[in-house]
Amino acid sequence: MNITEKINALEPCEKCSDVQIKKFSPLKDLIDFNTLTADYMRCECGKRPLDIVMSHILKIMIESQIVKENATLRRNSPVPLSNFYYSSLNPQFINKKSLILLHPDFTGEVAQRLIREVPEVACVLKGSPQDTVGQSDKDSKISHFEILEGDDEQVNVMRTLLKDKIIIVKNQSKHHIEVATTTEQKLVQLHNYLKNNNVKRGIALDAMCGLGAIGIYLEKYGFEKVIFNDINPEMIDVLEYNLEINEVKGDYEIHNHAFEDLEIDPVDLCVIDAFPGMDISEIQEKAEKIADNVIII
Ligand SMILES: [Zn+2]
Repeated sequence: MNITEKINALEPCEKCSDVQIKKFSPLKDLIDFNTLTADYMRCECGKRPLDIVMSHILKIMIESQIVKENATLRRNSPVPLSNFYYSSLNPQFINKKSLILLHPDFTGEVAQRLIREVPEVACVLKGSPQDTVGQSDKDSKISHFEILEGDDEQVNVMRTLLKDKIIIVKNQSKHHIEVATTTEQKLVQLHNYLKNNNVKRGIALDAMCGLGAIGIYLEKYGFEKVIFNDINPEMIDVLEYNLEINEVKGDYEIHNHAFEDLEIDPVDLCVIDAFPGMDISEIQEKAEKIADNVIII
């Protein structure tokens, strides 16, 4: 994977020209569906404007009757996720094989058509952005979005306040939808906390590490040792891959426990990055017992 090439490919070429499709009008009143095929408005560089790609997708959903005849881009589009994010940039021109789509009413048949007819689609997932995906505590089962077609691998490249970028690879079907900028913002918040509180660069604990972005950052920041922990065994496999691609060479440990069951010696820093909406009072209490500094982000 050449990251620089992928970042450059997000930019439109000189000939890419944008189109905006009205989001609140029925799509069928705006575009002749017969013309809306794979080459419609495609630039010679291979990209198409986002609105055209989404219109092509919605056309197929209308024809397959999973949305109403008078469907609009605003109300009826699936969630389009890029399979390659660079920081907070949201490309308006879309490369082939670069979109992961999520919608609760997708069927196997529609997914096949989307993959076959819309070259930009890389993967079709069934589910809703509000679904809880992954594993939040030890009483809950691991849940996924269903992969109907394609490859759900997604790469996030994050800029940081250090010289390194952090690269996080995941399978989108196994994760709740988090806006691309959120992790980057968390890393900035963490960086400022460490600076302002003069935290000793000793041993750090990434208590609910998930894919490992925070712990990897702490290692790059200069901590002597980083302890990664997550309750979900699926996270541990991906974590090891992410440690490798970010060339983490320092001392680290990996644990696969609910945080309340984790037994470790005292640490200098504990970072808590819990699921949104989770009650973390007990977690915080435990963190304060084992760490000199606790940050909840
Ligand atoms: Zn172009």
